[in-house]
Amino acid sequence: MSDPMRIPRPTRLPAALTAALLAVPVAAVPAATPAAAAPPPAAAAPPPVAAAPTLAVARNAPVRPPYHVVRPGQTLRSVAKVYGVGWKVIAAWNGLRRPYTVHVDDVLRLNRQPGGPLPAFRTRVERVTPQMVNWNPALRCPIWPVSLRRVWVFYVDFAGNRRIGSIIMHRLHVTRTQRIFRELYQRRFRVQAMAPASVNLPGGTDYSAITSGWECRRVSGSNVWSQHAYGTAIDLNPVQNPMIKRGVVTPSTGRGYVGRSRYGIGMVHAAGAVPVFTGNGFPWGGRWRTMKDYMHFAVEDR
Ligand SMILES: [Zn+2]
Repeated sequence: MSDPMRIPRPTRLPAALTAALLAVPVAAVPAATPAAAAPPPAAAAPPPVAAAPTLAVARNAPVRPPYHVVRPGQTLRSVAKVYGVGWKVIAAWNGLRRPYTVHVDDVLRLNRQPGGPLPAFRTRVERVTPQMVNWNPALRCPIWPVSLRRVWVFYVDFAGNRRIGSIIMHRLHVTRTQRIFRELYQRRFRVQAMAPASVNLPGGTDYSAITSGWECRRVSGSNVWSQHAYGTAIDLNPVQNPMIKRGVVTPSTGRGYVGRSRYGIGMVHAAGAVPVFTGNGFPWGGRWRTMKDYMHFAVEDR
């Protein structure tokens, strides 16, 4: 294993070879075993006087889950207190540095990252061929593959592992897309899956779970091209951030996420991950009045 974290530099290699190069480091990332990495705190039962308590675990602390999603008003210290773990320990587990700022929707590991802290964010951009985007001329899509780019990024999956994924975007929005995914990564915000599905969702059949950008399609129930058909929109964690239109939840697997007062993994909130997008020029479909599209961030706000 020379350098499993290496993402290939921008390259003129054929797509198949590039994909093969990328597949290697992704497959080499060890799966997290949070249960094995985190010794169960001895807090649930009354601690006997003679017991040797784990130094970092306070009495009466709740049983520690593998991660915590930051809620409004919480700080690294207040989260640490909830679980009876030193805040510096949590900072180390998550690779946080001064000033140890955390944001709503950030995800904090509550155990050590197997293999050490996550590597620094990396990204690169690739031109696409019609084949790479399954181009279908019969659809008469509003923009052509020559205007599209595949943006490769590091992301953190729901198990807390670093993965390499890609998203197809209009070439004019590549830089802001890279900024968005850099910020999400630095916040340890978790993304369920990105393309290529064969690598990041092996054996999976529910592609509605994939975070994606360009797609040549119309707005559901109309003739108008979706912003996705222009490569100017991103759908983030569709299951955890579904669209609700006339009472219909899409994808249907997102029905458990219609209530937005929860702070579950992968969910976005106005006070949390949403500003990562709006601050980079992508307004949020969760602010719309007639319908809600919590997964949807689009340059033209529609
Ligand atoms: Zn969308």
